Amino acid sequence: MLGGGLLASVACAMLAVCSGARLAASRAARAAPCRPRALVSAAAGSDANICIVGGGFGGLNTALKLAALPWEGAQRPKITLIDRSDRHVFLPMLYDLTCGDVSEWEVAPRFDELLVGTGVEHVQGELVALDTGTRELTVRGAEGRQTLAYDKLVLALGAQPVKPPAKGTMTFRTLDDALALRFKLRALLASGAPLVRVLVVGASYSGIELSTQLARTLGPRRGLVTLVGRADAVLKSGAKGSQEASVEALRAAGVELILNRDVELDGPSRARLVEVRSATTDADVPSAAAAAEYVDADLVVWCAGSAPLSRAAELRLPLAVDGRIATTSTLGVRDLPDVFAIGDMAACEPLGESDANAQNAQVAVQQAEYASYNVWAALSGKEPMPYRYLKAGEMLAFGPTDASVNAFNMFNIGGLPGATIRRAAYLYRMPTGAHKAKVGFSWAFDAALRSADAVLGRARKTQSTI
Ligand SMILES: Cc1cc2nc3c(=O)[nH]c(=O)nc-3n(C[C@H](O)[C@H](O)[C@H](O)COP(=O)(O)OP(=O)(O)OC[C@H]3O[C@@H](n4cnc5c(N)ncnc54)[C@H](O)[C@@H]3O)c2cc1C
Repeated sequence: MLGGGLLASVACAMLAVCSGARLAASRAARAAPCRPRALVSAAAGSDANICIVGGGFGGLNTALKLAALPWEGAQRPKITLIDRSDRHVFLPMLYDLTCGDVSEWEVAPRFDELLVGTGVEHVQGELVALDTGTRELTVRGAEGRQTLAYDKLVLALGAQPVKPPAKGTMTFRTLDDALALRFKLRALLASGAPLVRVLVVGASYSGIELSTQLARTLGPRRGLVTLVGRADAVLKSGAKGSQEASVEALRAAGVELILNRDVELDGPSRARLVEVRSATTDADVPSAAAAAEYVDADLVVWCAGSAPLSRAAELRLPLAVDGRIATTSTLGVRDLPDVFAIGDMAACEPLGESDANAQNAQVAVQQAEYASYNVWAALSGKEPMPYRYLKAGEMLAFGPTDASVNAFNMFNIGGLPGATIRRAAYLYRMPTGAHKAKVGFSWAFDAALRSADAVLGRARKTQSTI
């Protein structure tokens, strides 16, 4: 029976990975530019220097795709990936990390491991200055400042969270944020406090995923999670199916939901809730504590959206009306043919209402396809390809065995099948074949152990532990 359970789990995991991969692959095939043939001539017949700053979804994928292009021997460019961190962070799985459902190595692999055999060099340091006249950038690292020359530059620095209005309030945007939250929760649980009270501010993707996962992990006996949103419904910008799934998941996880309120902080642990007058509360969404004026919490986590990087303005590049770096339809920075900008920090003009400029991983990854192609095209005297976005859908995770997957705004898959598809899709999206294989094995092994325990009726943890 044990063998059967193991096999079933591994087969299930593999099937999920394959179907996720097929979906994603067909999507990529429709969205991405065609693979170019071998480069005929590099800039002035010499090796070109391509610098990519930011090793997140946009930058790392650009670097890996550029390295995989069919450059010819002597004309192969030098590709340098600069990031202030020593690791790539798979941001959509930070909740799973905080709640102890995945390991740090799985969602934050080191660049030196990811880039083995690719020919891409990693420089760890912070971009502090850019001179587009001399085509040089200055990077500050552990050993001081260094200047790097570039022929083509791709900027992919991401975004920053909207700053909370009081000191001591946590944000949830980086690996450090996720680990700090886990550390604080552990300390509170260990202190013997009867109830750990967490207030999450912002009822959109991050706030909903974080509050449901925390509530399920802490459980009703140890935790009380309150989610406060400014709008009159959760996930205002999401697909209808995702909104309904979110409301249901919040209810099932026991999250106290308060809508239509602005949050003012009286220090790091006391929030005053002020009614937003212009909106009306959706009658379908129960609001257990709608009358409360103050919420006391051991932890306040600010998930109220992201803002353009202040660094974007400091770089003195052309900015779009929303404060992000303005790019043309081929993702080149306006008036600067050697500089490209992608992902959360960039806005491809015209802005319009479309999802093509949304701050999400799908946009960053698809832009990486076009940016790498267009850098190649610029160096080989070919026509650039205008960026086209294809929205596949959206996913929200409410716990290790519960997620909502909305495909093309047409249908929603929830519960364990949703969670399996989410894992498979994220596995497919992980960088490099070697990392995918290691993570895939680790997840399949974990799933196999869980089902073996279930079959044998062994008491093993059924819930995540922080
Ligand atoms: C908690 C969380 C959950 C999310 N969940 C989802 C999801 O489920 N689905 C989805 O589609 N999107 C999700 N997103 C959004 C998605 O992760 C981002 O839109 C995406 O990562 C943007 O890619 P990027 O390359 O622009 O920036 P990032 O991935 O943020 O990468 C930016 C990189 O730049 C580096 N950097 C920044 N400043 C400097 C500097 N000055 N010098 C050197 N390096 C620098 C950073 O270290 C980082 O590695 C989530 C985001 C968060 C925070």
